[in-house]
Amino acid sequence: MSTDPVMVVHGGAWAMPDDMVEAHIRGVKTALAAGWRVLERGGSSLDAVEQAVVVMEDDETFDAGRGSFLNRDGRVQLDALIMDGATLRAGGVGCVEHLRNPVHAARKILSESPHVYFVGEGAEKFAAEHGVPLCKNEDLIIPREIERLRRYQKENERLGFNNDDSGQVGKELFAPEISHDTVGAVALDRDGNIAAATSTGGTLNKAPGRLGDSSLIGCGCYADNLSAAASTTGWGEPIMKLVLAKWTADRVAAGNLPEWAAQEAMNYLIQRVNGHGGIIVLSRDGHFGIAHNTPRMAWAYRTMKKQDAGIVRE
Ligand code: ASP
Repeated sequence: MSTDPVMVVHGGAWAMPDDMVEAHIRGVKTALAAGWRVLERGGSSLDAVEQAVVVMEDDETFDAGRGSFLNRDGRVQLDALIMDGATLRAGGVGCVEHLRNPVHAARKILSESPHVYFVGEGAEKFAAEHGVPLCKNEDLIIPREIERLRRYQKENERLGFNNDDSGQVGKELFAPEISHDTVGAVALDRDGNIAAATSTGGTLNKAPGRLGDSSLIGCGCYADNLSAAASTTGWGEPIMKLVLAKWTADRVAAGNLPEWAAQEAMNYLIQRVNGHGGIIVLSRDGHFGIAHNTPRMAWAYRTMKKQDAGIVRE
């Protein structure tokens, strides 16, 4: 018997200003449509989440692929993870600088490598050897982000914070007003399998080599048919400390609805480590949750009966 497919995507959780709402909604809807096309024709949840994330990596609205935030040195450094709930196979890349679509490289690792995670040059070498084209770092940088970094560093200097040590940078870096535009997707396919993918440029002005939650298994992304698929966004350090995607999936495995588990995850994040962000969660029976403890989060979902998109989830 075939399962009714479900797809949920997010495009970052923060205090998104009004003038950016339209681009975010358009972006998550286009990504959702790309993933849904895969599911509709009987494709796998793994292919669906990869396709959806590629669309958002290609969309400069988001902090993933081209248009990502710049690190302290003015370079783009990307992280991505994809995970298959049926087999628990996963593929991750961290700190890559020459890939337009890091999720493609992550997928190649999942499918074609005995390893799970590659970083930096090794990740890029693996990608190139497996047919994923490399690009120049400059190809990933857009003027909006050069200006954003310049203004951010200038403001830090004015406040007397030290730009050379991200650990010392002022609390503004971690305030919800600072954009968190990481992208992610979870899907359930006709065969009843779930998958998840997350891709990010990380946080603004991060130290070179810094890796956030997004591409770490169980932190920014997780999928297991026996529990749930989840993708997070937000301030990565607190999310990592709680291994939040896995924490949430475990609540689903214990019998809680994803709707509840997603909300609980956001409460836990703020109460335990004063973190902010958002999460999407999907279980194998088609229930899903979307929650954020930031003022806004871009999300979209589709089931056989309904589809919707928005920037606030009550
Ligand atoms: N979680 C990401 C990171 O810390 C950032 C984000 O979600 O925007 O790298």
